[in-house]
Amino acid sequence: MPSLFGRPHNNLRISVTDRCNIRCVYCMPEQVAFLPRAQLLNFEEIERFVRVSAPMGIDKIRLTGGEPLVRRDLPILIAKLAAIPGIRDIGLTTNGLLLASAARRLRDAGLERINVSLDTLDPERFETLTRRTGVEQVIEGILAAKEAGFNPVKVNAVAIRGTTEEDVVPLALFCRRHGLELRFIEYMPLDAGHQWERAKVLFAAEILEILAREIGPLSPRPDQDPQAPALDYPYDDGGGTVGFIASVSRPFCMSCNRLRLTADGKLRNCLFALEETDVRALIRGGASDEAIARAIRESVASKWEGHEINTARFIQPERLMHSIGG
Ligand code: SAM
Ligand code: SF4
Repeated sequence: MPSLFGRPHNNLRISVTDRCNIRCVYCMPEQVAFLPRAQLLNFEEIERFVRVSAPMGIDKIRLTGGEPLVRRDLPILIAKLAAIPGIRDIGLTTNGLLLASAARRLRDAGLERINVSLDTLDPERFETLTRRTGVEQVIEGILAAKEAGFNPVKVNAVAIRGTTEEDVVPLALFCRRHGLELRFIEYMPLDAGHQWERAKVLFAAEILEILAREIGPLSPRPDQDPQAPALDYPYDDGGGTVGFIASVSRPFCMSCNRLRLTADGKLRNCLFALEETDVRALIRGGASDEAIARAIRESVASKWEGHEINTARFIQPERLMHSIGG
């Protein structure tokens, strides 16, 4: 796989649907016109794309959405992808609502890693943030994933100033108690209402300060993988690790190794890309493997140096987070 600025691309995030069973305010509007089923890539089309990209260097896949578990037959896709030579790691990011009953089947199908998104343990704030109820169901899903043998189970929490500060400590204590890896994600400008402002981002450094003050000291992991977007901070007392995806305060674009395939088959070389490649048209138009491989190479080659969130030049893409695949 060619790379720009010395970034080899081995990580593919595949969105399997733009649908979701909740409506997080930072991700999608209350009313959404979801894509008709026929516009979504089917499992065979996704498998074809991965078969072409694996020999080019893609070896790590994350399934996301929308909410990936609303595609109930997801274990079938996981098994297909796990069987592709060269694919060595398959992960899933889910809101956890449908996870309790699915965890074991996902594991059996070959899923290796799981991240469950949970911003708060407080039912009222859960409802404010997601416009739906269900925090208990998510917790049940997280514990079922642990029970099914996923280790670690990661918990993703979006960090929004003025909203989630009070959740930092309860979430951290919950994760310490259950042996879960907590990861805070700085709020990014991909929301429907264009409500994002830099001032609304609760920065990693501030969360670290809260954790160190209220729970105990943490130190940066010495053997940190420079490619990994998360900065990991183990607690000094050995009580687990907290990660930070500090896309705003500490962008990791220069080591970004990711490509994204949307549910409707568009290849994106950045979360914030303004242009995309229509892979579905290639696949459905009978394109050869070589033509698909060329489109992948061209997409990587046209990747920009980095997002411009922190500059006046930043333009929010039209696609919202749920239809890109976070
Ligand atoms: N529905 C699944 C879930 O929520 O885990 C998968 C898709 S969701 C788009 C993937 C991740 O993106 C979630 O952890 C979610 O919290 C995060 N996310 C969504 N919108 C975001 C935003 N504006 N800023 C930062 N993270 C966001
Ligand atoms: Fe759905 Fe995930 Fe977006 Fe929340 S963040 S609305 S759970 S896709």
